[in-house]
Amino acid sequence: MFFSNPFMEYKNIEIIGAGLSGLLLAYYIFKITDKFNVTVYEKSSSIHKNKNFCFWLEKNKKFEFSELISKNWNSWYFSTPNDFVVHKSNSFEYVLLKNDDPGYVFDSRNVDRNNWKLSQIFVGYEIQTEYENEDYVTLMGNMQYCPELNFNFNYILPIDDQSLFFEKTVFTNDDLNYELIEEQLKIELLSKYSSFDIKKIEYGCIPMGYYNEKLNNIGIPIGVRAGHYRSSSGYSFQTINKNMKIYANKICHGKSINKKPIHFQNIIDDHFLKTFILNMDQFPDVLINMSRKIKPNDFAKFMSSVNLISLCSMIKALPKKIFLKSLMS
Ligand SMILES: Cc1cc2nc3c(=O)[nH]c(=O)nc-3n(C[C@H](O)[C@H](O)[C@H](O)COP(=O)(O)OP(=O)(O)OC[C@H]3O[C@@H](n4cnc5c(N)ncnc54)[C@H](O)[C@@H]3O)c2cc1C
Repeated sequence: MFFSNPFMEYKNIEIIGAGLSGLLLAYYIFKITDKFNVTVYEKSSSIHKNKNFCFWLEKNKKFEFSELISKNWNSWYFSTPNDFVVHKSNSFEYVLLKNDDPGYVFDSRNVDRNNWKLSQIFVGYEIQTEYENEDYVTLMGNMQYCPELNFNFNYILPIDDQSLFFEKTVFTNDDLNYELIEEQLKIELLSKYSSFDIKKIEYGCIPMGYYNEKLNNIGIPIGVRAGHYRSSSGYSFQTINKNMKIYANKICHGKSINKKPIHFQNIIDDHFLKTFILNMDQFPDVLINMSRKIKPNDFAKFMSSVNLISLCSMIKALPKKIFLKSLMS
């Protein structure tokens, strides 16, 4: 289905939400032309806070916001209480974009939590310790499944020699509160570091999959609301950046925008998510085994964007039985 009015007839563009997609869309429109009046509406007075983004970048490839990269790593780590895997990549790096200060209607309002298939809830502490930090990112450390916290793991970004960001993440369908997660985070931090200073605390809750049909969009959805994100992981930067560039180009050249394109990536991610929801208790082992089988570059490629090539290596690493079973259910 297409919107019939060409964008060139109008001078005013309204964007609801000054989040990642809203701001990137405005940025790319202004980069191309100054002939539109763009208004961005934002309900929160503190949107500049908690806006750090991490994602994989292919080395030596041009990146629009390279001056904003504050840290990059060549390796990342997975573990269970008894096992660990370290990925080292020569072609990809995991980068941190740190944001310290950070007519048509485009709607980037967050999807209501009642419509989520699964929640990713996290509490993170930026801490200062006297211990020397490892120089790799712990992507999914100490993955475990337990009845109280469901599937949970640690996400650790060593920011510099003395400080690191330590986050406890839980994937759950239950109505978990932050206190429970924070309690567990403190227990694990204290078991690792006998003393530390807390510099910053971050709480977050993001959707992993949601029911599209229940959304009531105002105008054209963008961002997570439009499916511009990875439902199986919650990562969105690369997908939103790519799509907002395309949208801005279309707007500035008077072309219409597909209302609801179905991306191959979304179909694959939704299936992965479904398998995860059905087999959550097995996933610490499933993921550690998959991380051992898949090559670091192939993993980073798949996490950056799904196409037939990046999917093939992922399929090879999948435990076939549970994925086929969930495909048929
Ligand atoms: C703490 C945290 C850390 C994250 N880290 C990463 C990461 O490292 N890498 C990554 O790829 N992704 C990360 N994510 C996910 C990423 O932030 C989101 O997927 C991304 O911001 C989605 O962009 P969006 O534009 O769709 O929505 P948002 O960025 O959430 O923007 C939506 C905006 O709309 C505003 N809004 C809502 N309702 C209204 C209304 N009625 N009127 C006006 N404004 C409204 C909201 O206040 C918000 O500012 C993280 C998320 C959180 C919470």
